[in-house]
Amino acid sequence: MKDQLSNRINSLPVSATLAMAAKARELKAEGKDIISLSLGEPDFNTPDFIKEAAIQAVNDNYSSYSPVDGYADLKDAIITKFKRDNGLDYKPSQIVVSTGAKQSIANIAMVLLNPGDEVLLPAPYWVSYSAIAILGEATPVEIPSSIDTDFKITPAQLEAAITPKTKMIFFNSPNNPSGVIYSEAEYRALAKVLEKHPNIYVLSDEIYEHINYGQKAFSFAAIESMYDRTITVNGVAKAFAMTGWRIGYIGGPEWIARACNKLQGQITSGANCIAQRATIAALEAPISKIKYMVDEFHKRRDMILDLLGKIDGFKLNIPGGAFYVFPDISAFFGKEIKGHKINCASDFSLFLLAEANIATVSGESFGSPNCIRISYAASEAQLREAVSRIEKALA
Ligand code: GLU
Repeated sequence: MKDQLSNRINSLPVSATLAMAAKARELKAEGKDIISLSLGEPDFNTPDFIKEAAIQAVNDNYSSYSPVDGYADLKDAIITKFKRDNGLDYKPSQIVVSTGAKQSIANIAMVLLNPGDEVLLPAPYWVSYSAIAILGEATPVEIPSSIDTDFKITPAQLEAAITPKTKMIFFNSPNNPSGVIYSEAEYRALAKVLEKHPNIYVLSDEIYEHINYGQKAFSFAAIESMYDRTITVNGVAKAFAMTGWRIGYIGGPEWIARACNKLQGQITSGANCIAQRATIAALEAPISKIKYMVDEFHKRRDMILDLLGKIDGFKLNIPGGAFYVFPDISAFFGKEIKGHKINCASDFSLFLLAEANIATVSGESFGSPNCIRISYAASEAQLREAVSRIEKALA
């Protein structure tokens, strides 16, 4: 029946992160002792003060449609957050609340892209960027990087990738999957290139901003020349352990926000009203309230770097944020281990699943075919056990 489906869906790749998470769940249900390090989601519960706000909202009968672009007081909380954390000034008409940052990103792509447009993706990039660009009938154009450049692209690479068809760049720092954080100077150097190309829009995905280990994340829109053509995407999923609540939001030029509002009004309407009320509590709280989670991720990052660093063939960078390590495992390519031929990162990831019962995500879908992504948003005991199983499988 595949030929009955639209070309649109047939040309869309499956989300590699969600596919691996589903596979891990399936194997667990079959009774296998799988440690899933595939999905990027905090293993903490949503903090109580946020849950209480949601319970209050239920009791206060928040049960009807919200405005399509979000409650006015939530938008005010987002405006205050943008000012407090990013030094950005937005008006309510520049804010749209959506069902997760994923919908925010899809909205932007749908309202800005036309067939034939090119979207620049500094690699490695989150798996859904390329899929969303394809859904917008645009062509994703990767700008490669490797562990040798700490997974960062240079201004010269950016300049070389730009063509008359370039419409957008999807930028993400702290980065999923590499954990890399671009410095303000690096942002400014990239912006210098973009200044010469006034028709290119920047989608700045800042969803991991609070999960950093000392180096504060910067915002593209904080550069004056970029403000009018940057759409800043954020949400509560990662920093507040609220992945399932599905609240993302944007700040950007009013005409783009208006278009996103129109699109959303035809597809989903406003985001879940209880989750929106809970998000107000999350955003109005001081950042110190979530520090215990960031501190814990920091400890785990140091631990997993130390443990994986002892395995021959694992080449690691030091991620400054997010909760992933992204080792280059190309040293294993061309080898056969326990009957498994390893010719690419997918082979290696499947080998770990089969021989160590560890679910990871292979780097191909992130545009980095020499790497695998390991999420360390898991308990210390699970991480220790996972690394010891990897060592045994490779022995
Ligand atoms: N963003 C997370 C990840 O990269 C969640 C899964 C997804 O939406 O891709 O694992």
